[in-house]
Amino acid sequence: MTSLPKPGGTQLGLVIDLDICVGCHACAVNWTQWNSGGIAAPLTGLEPYGSDPLGVWFNRVHTFETGEGAAGRTVHFPRSCLHCAEPACVTVCPTGASYKRAEDGIVLVNEDLCIGCKLCSWACPYGAREYDYDAGVMKKCTLCVDKIYNQTLDPADRIPACVSTCPSSARHFGDLGDPNSEVSKLVQARGGYDLMPELGFKPTNKYLPPRARRNDSRMAPPVAAAGNEPAQETGFFAWVDRLLAG
Ligand code: SF4
Ligand code: SF4
Repeated sequence: MTSLPKPGGTQLGLVIDLDICVGCHACAVNWTQWNSGGIAAPLTGLEPYGSDPLGVWFNRVHTFETGEGAAGRTVHFPRSCLHCAEPACVTVCPTGASYKRAEDGIVLVNEDLCIGCKLCSWACPYGAREYDYDAGVMKKCTLCVDKIYNQTLDPADRIPACVSTCPSSARHFGDLGDPNSEVSKLVQARGGYDLMPELGFKPTNKYLPPRARRNDSRMAPPVAAAGNEPAQETGFFAWVDRLLAG
């Protein structure tokens, strides 16, 4: 089994605003393009335009309806690795292939050490692992680690591909380990929350809930008195839990 670095310090991650995500899938497509284009990209994409395409997606967008009648609304829910502070995918790994970086909190897979046993995908409760049948190893979101530290890029472009392409600016990137960072302030201001905090994996990524509509309190942020743990999930939040649990 694989050990984790000491907690604390930089925790790079995403903040996703469910109030303004329009479900266009641009994040999913650009994320995949960044990781599968060119000659040295890490993702497999076989016959992408054929009748039986086979590939790996790090980011998926689920769209659903919630509520009835005038209170009903459509919510788009992007889902990817949450770069948990205490990730089950790492501690379960028998070879040390899955690891969490001490310097920035990004969770990665060393493909040279991965034996393809898929224990990590069973352990991840968020369905964020993707097995590459072509390469025989597990793959996952890297938070575009090859882009965010790329010194040849303009500093403004050193952000994950999914963030840079989002047309509605629903995705934010930064250090969630720093309470004074812009992303942390956003989480604080909007009642950002963890997915399924009761499991104890402490996801770094946060979601900003849809704002309440007039006369509809069901979408109000489920902010708890302390931390990011939501109160009892109902309505939309219960749906998200059911989605991930399924
Ligand atoms: Fe691991 Fe899943 Fe957490 Fe990502 S979301 S760090 S794959 S447990
Ligand atoms: Fe570790 Fe690879 Fe097995 Fe996942 S599939 S637990 S990364 S050896």
